[in-house]
Amino acid sequence: MNVKELDREYIAGTYARFPVVLTHGSGSLVYDEAGKEYIDMGSGIAVNAFGVADGEWISAVTAQLGKLQHSSNLYFTEPGALLAEQLCSRTGMKKVFFANSGAEANECAIKCARKYAADKYGADRRYKLVTLKNSFHGRTITTLAATGQDEYHKLFQPLTPGFVYAEANNCAALRALVEGDENIAAIMFELVQGEGGVLPLEYDFVQCIKELCAERDILMVCDEVQTGNGRTGTLYAWQQFDIVPDIMSTAKGLGGGLPIGACLMGEKVKDTMTPGTHGSTFGGNPAVCAGALNILGRIDDKLLAEVRAKSEYIVSELSAAPGVESVAGLGLMLGVKTAKPLDEVVTACRENGVLALTAHGKLRLLPALNIPMELVEKAVAVIKAACE
Ligand SMILES: *Cc1c(COP(=O)(O)O)cnc(C)c1O
Repeated sequence: MNVKELDREYIAGTYARFPVVLTHGSGSLVYDEAGKEYIDMGSGIAVNAFGVADGEWISAVTAQLGKLQHSSNLYFTEPGALLAEQLCSRTGMKKVFFANSGAEANECAIKCARKYAADKYGADRRYKLVTLKNSFHGRTITTLAATGQDEYHKLFQPLTPGFVYAEANNCAALRALVEGDENIAAIMFELVQGEGGVLPLEYDFVQCIKELCAERDILMVCDEVQTGNGRTGTLYAWQQFDIVPDIMSTAKGLGGGLPIGACLMGEKVKDTMTPGTHGSTFGGNPAVCAGALNILGRIDDKLLAEVRAKSEYIVSELSAAPGVESVAGLGLMLGVKTAKPLDEVVTACRENGVLALTAHGKLRLLPALNIPMELVEKAVAVIKAACE
């Protein structure tokens, strides 16, 4: 059997894959088994922050692999400690818990929010989290409950209780919900709803969340799993909204292609998680953290300025293109509404050598942060032609 047949036979049918078998790549170019070249405008869903087979990252990971690939969390190791230090010094957050995925980073954020409230107000009282309609927070039973989309919930009842949903960008409705419920511990949100269709929250709505949190000692939890690590043109998206979260989760791009999740805790909750309250066998794996440390160190002001410049180019080119109805997003996290049926556009892109993603009826672009301008221009030309 070939790869596609083996996969269909033996891998659980949870994915509707594009009909491409990828074998290797270099930077923002990837190749399939027939040798066809593609410009990768998805970077493994915002994971390969510096593209494929990045030399510096490989060196960082392999150097650590040659020393100690795993130790368990019963011992101290250097890479995780250095990574946590850099995450804190660049965000003002105080403590980091390392997990292995976005959903797990969010699980930690949710546990931390509930424990803060239980410690301060008594268990079984302030246990609820407000999340937003159309959000996405992961696939575990609890992060599914946090995800404000009914179609993900239907077949998996009962989900973890304690989540209530508010409409994004509706301050009055959020205020009414929060003021009408004494049991709210936290408000959790993505600053740009990714899976939900690449929709940035309005600045004023984010200020509304900030005010409500301050008035009522409610924790502000930012899910930066997708928006984080330079994706939106700042290290973390909240840095563009005049807020400082109490808890922040991130994952995807942080590991440069290896699995990592991180839950960052601010001043209020820095001592909430105590020995025995949480843990992870693989969390903080030294090889993964060594790679992440290399990635994070390279997301500097120069790279972030380039992310913003490439974003401006893509937005200005595509918003003026025939067949494009709208372009939304921040930085290199963009959603394009097309007049033509989306699957036609994605297929035309692929046939012409551009891999693009979709989200809620939109073409979704998440290229590597260091994609060369020349490849951006080529990809934009292919996307324009596919939309027309
Ligand atoms: C991808 C994503 C998650 C889930 O991350 P996994 O690593 O797949 O568990 C959670 N939140 C947001 C905003 C995401 O984009």
